[in-house]
Amino acid sequence: MLRKELNIFTFRDLLEHFPLRHLDKTQVSLINEIDPTSDFVQIAGRITDVTVMGEKRGKRLVARIKDKSGTLELTWFQGITWVQKSLFPGQDYLVFGRCGFFNGRPQITHPEMELLSSVNKTGQAFLEPIYPSTEKLKARALNGRQIGKLTAVLMPQLAERDIPENIPATLLEQLKLPGRFQAYQNIHFPKSAQAYENALRRLKFEELLIAQVRLALVKLNRHRYSRGVVFEKVGDIFNHFYNNVLPFQLTGAQKRVFKEIRQDTARGKQMNRLLQGDVGSGKTIVALLCMLLAADNGFQSCLMAPTEILSQQHFQGLSSLLKDMPVNIRILTGSTKTAERRKVLAGLADGSIQMVVGTHAVIEDAVQFANLGLVVIDEQHRFGVAQRARLWQKATIPPHVLVMTATPIPRTLAMTAYGDLDYSVMDELPPGRQPITTVHRNEMQRGGVMDFIRSEIEKGRQAYIIYPLIEESEKLSYEDLMQGYEQVKSWFPEPKYRISMVHGRQPPEQKETNMQRFVTGDTHIMVSTTVIEVGVNVPNASVMVIESTEKFGLSQLHQLRGRVGRGSEKSFCILLTGERVSNDARERIKIMCATNDGFKIAEKDLELRGPGDIEGTRQSGMLNFKLANIVNDKAILESAKFYAQHLLDNDPELSSADNLPLKNYLLVKEGKTAWSKIS
Ligand code: ADP
Ligand code: MG
Repeated sequence: MLRKELNIFTFRDLLEHFPLRHLDKTQVSLINEIDPTSDFVQIAGRITDVTVMGEKRGKRLVARIKDKSGTLELTWFQGITWVQKSLFPGQDYLVFGRCGFFNGRPQITHPEMELLSSVNKTGQAFLEPIYPSTEKLKARALNGRQIGKLTAVLMPQLAERDIPENIPATLLEQLKLPGRFQAYQNIHFPKSAQAYENALRRLKFEELLIAQVRLALVKLNRHRYSRGVVFEKVGDIFNHFYNNVLPFQLTGAQKRVFKEIRQDTARGKQMNRLLQGDVGSGKTIVALLCMLLAADNGFQSCLMAPTEILSQQHFQGLSSLLKDMPVNIRILTGSTKTAERRKVLAGLADGSIQMVVGTHAVIEDAVQFANLGLVVIDEQHRFGVAQRARLWQKATIPPHVLVMTATPIPRTLAMTAYGDLDYSVMDELPPGRQPITTVHRNEMQRGGVMDFIRSEIEKGRQAYIIYPLIEESEKLSYEDLMQGYEQVKSWFPEPKYRISMVHGRQPPEQKETNMQRFVTGDTHIMVSTTVIEVGVNVPNASVMVIESTEKFGLSQLHQLRGRVGRGSEKSFCILLTGERVSNDARERIKIMCATNDGFKIAEKDLELRGPGDIEGTRQSGMLNFKLANIVNDKAILESAKFYAQHLLDNDPELSSADNLPLKNYLLVKEGKTAWSKIS
């Protein structure tokens, strides 16, 4: 039962089944102090009478207890006969339980009862642990307190060697943390609130330190032992592009990141790097520079995007930049026609194609590369870990991998979920961008919003109108979109206005044509679902209207908003909602209106949603901490990261006497935990 419900198999699991909280049983309340806000209460008083009431299913045992301030009802629905036998009217009891109100009167259902005469009267502080349980277990009388009784039996039988220390002694001392054995005792059965706090802090730190040491070891070992292809020189291809083709100056951040990548790829070790940049910070050009570097060194490269549209767009962008250069670049997606596909496959296999842009069609088994040296994964959260792993098998020496995020990831999340990757940040937008103005409008103000779009179109600009994907039903999303489209058409009648529409049900060619018409400026308005979400680049578009904004998450909204503000014109984002908006949605909208900074938004998003909900991290298993929480325990995480790095800097093998306990712990646990690279 414990096994099935709570995953508790062994004593150790029981020991690591930590209490949710503790109850302070030293407090005894007076009955007239109890009010509807009271939760668990403890009272002392005399039982005045015990009666069985009701019949059959309504049958219950009711006892009344009286203290100097009033009386209270105690009720049992189960075990009536047994309880009745063990309760003695006229005796004084200590009663403990969760208080509820019934017909305006306080009552406790299924309280715990102890004869006052048998209660330890020394007045010693007593914090009782309450454990997570499940309804099923509760039904079998194994509630959160009973579990504590099991633990209480187990605990005294343990000695220090059963819970060996795993943090170096000097570190414990430095951080004033209790030892491991003591921490386990105090997290379950603390002698004081302070002892509990210390134990909790220690165990959280332990969890995070272990995780950080592991991640740092993966990284360290890659830096030391992995083999990687060497991009030793910057050659003609790169130089020609940089000096004669690149249409703008790189930003400082772009230069810095390229330099980091350049160093990484020249060392003969495999690069596995995460590039974080805000929407519009110019990640694509960095990717292209890296691909040119690969070509200069005789290696093929591939750029993978999560959708067909994005692949098309990347391909068009890159191939037009490369049109006068001796670089053979092709596209490979699910909709590539058979004949063309055959040609691309052949060209990749014989090395005559240097660059390929595509969706996951690129990682299908049939695709063989002559000498793949670099893989760039754009907007990576859409690629599963397994998909990425397949790329390794495309070359004898694993290619360098550059993973680019769609929007920034909160720092704490990056540290945990992607902590084994090297890490670059582009925190600078290209010059000349004007901040996007974001406003919230409701349904009543729709007319004004449409007028505004009209005035922007008159100035020669274009607009997006985005509808949410309704997760439960593709059909609903579609109907929503169609209805929206009809409405937009009535505001913006043909032939004066032209509208593109793109959605998931269209065949790829149609999507492509409609997209293309908007890109070239032939249509004024793009009506679409979130297929447009990532990456699309139409600098002339200056208005983004988001319908049913309340249905979108923060980072998605930010990503969508990033579709405007890409040119030199002032841009606007209008968040439309119904008249009534939930508090959560209101909070998101407030943040969107207040800032354009993706790094700030990412932090807020994590705070609002919690770590479990952030896309792409759930399967990584890196966030399944028992006690620590990367949102609330930021400071502990920072310190764990710092000390993990510090330990390994000074003793990469963890072989000093001080570090051995940690090393042993990692070795023992290694077999148990699935411990694989993220990318
Ligand atoms: P993202 O980082 O969101 O993928 P993109 O790579 O799509 O951003 O770049 C956004 C726009 O900025 C593109 O039109 C690109 O050509 C332009 N851009 C990129 N770098 C610079 C730069 N250094 N100076 C001016 N414009 C730039
Ligand atoms: Mg992009």
